[in-house]
Amino acid sequence: MPTAEAADPVPMDENDLRLLIGPASLTAQELAATYPAGVPIRLAAFVAQKKGLEQIEDAIRDFRFNATHVGESSSRQIHVLVIGETGRPDRWQLNGYSRPTTPRLSRIAEVVSFTDTVSAWAWTRMSVPVILTRKSPQDSRAFFQEKSLIAAFREAGFKTYWLSTQSPLGPHDSSIALHAREADYSRFLNPTDYRGAGVHDGVLLGPLSDILAQNEPRQLVVLHTLGSHFNYADRYPAGFDKFRPSQTGERAPSLHDSSQKEAMNNSYDNSIYYTDWLLSEIIERLRSTDSRATLLYVADHGENLFDGACTKSGHGHSTEFDFRVASMWWNSPQYGRARPDSIALVRERRDAALSTSHIFHTMLDAADIHYPGQDLSQSVLSANWTRRTRPVQGGYDFDASARDPVCLSLTRAPQRS
Ligand SMILES: [Zn+2]
Repeated sequence: MPTAEAADPVPMDENDLRLLIGPASLTAQELAATYPAGVPIRLAAFVAQKKGLEQIEDAIRDFRFNATHVGESSSRQIHVLVIGETGRPDRWQLNGYSRPTTPRLSRIAEVVSFTDTVSAWAWTRMSVPVILTRKSPQDSRAFFQEKSLIAAFREAGFKTYWLSTQSPLGPHDSSIALHAREADYSRFLNPTDYRGAGVHDGVLLGPLSDILAQNEPRQLVVLHTLGSHFNYADRYPAGFDKFRPSQTGERAPSLHDSSQKEAMNNSYDNSIYYTDWLLSEIIERLRSTDSRATLLYVADHGENLFDGACTKSGHGHSTEFDFRVASMWWNSPQYGRARPDSIALVRERRDAALSTSHIFHTMLDAADIHYPGQDLSQSVLSANWTRRTRPVQGGYDFDASARDPVCLSLTRAPQRS
């Protein structure tokens, strides 16, 4: 299995985008090459997914934000959004966890870790569109009838990139692929999906370096990672097996085997330790560009890990552990000098009650992109930011709902107006 450290930078070859699912780019032959086992079944499922994706893509083809870049244009600007996977904030040393899981980020002065961010959904396919678009967290449809922040950046003259270690197509992926396809360039680097060991997220660094080396004046890069998705031990190389006993080397452990609680938790923490390394490597690459650069990281949902006396594991149980997500901000010193007031506000809001709905608005504000009807009350960089209610999956108000004492499951409470 390749490790992040051993992975070669992947060349930027448009013809090599085997898994790019743009029109006419995914042939049956290519699918067969990608999935040597079970091709007929998978082919039928993929054709159905591809058709659904093309239908929604047609429906929003002419959608425009009419976005423009209004900032000073002589300096280079780079904005990176890292979408994490299954990331719990309480497992970050930066947020007070007793274990040294984020030693590298803890040493970087410009890092701000947000301690109170909530995702409305504990399912990737539903949570990621809320991060990328203006989709309401209460909208339970698979697809949203608008494009994402990627399209807005493109309209405003940014070169846009999507790099992923997740899958390009499938029941769990198509609502995200819809937006990946808005980018000028998209690449899926994992030959398998979350069910397999596959590659580690570190494979994203080579292509990221290649993008940064292109020296374009304005760039947006979205990195969609596998983060801490079960099997946790598949998410980090051997050198990151810090907390033991872990599930490293164990064949097909079960997510629901509570006798594995200790090893499972150790492997989960190791995956956070690796995410710390990945994010710090991205930051060092951005720092070396000498540009006005920002990085915003947010996980798609949390995870249950047999917490305390609770017997729940995995995600999708409507517990507090499902909805709380890790999130952090970094900016280059050059960016800090250009927008000192905004950075002061970000620091002030490290413990503010945030939801992932703010990401769309904050990313555009961070890049000095404006569009008619822009809502700065949802940007954490803005003096106009306003606290909102946080509705989550199942019709709960995250802040107003009661919790059962064992698993912190949300129990129904009247929605606040
Ligand atoms: Zn997920």
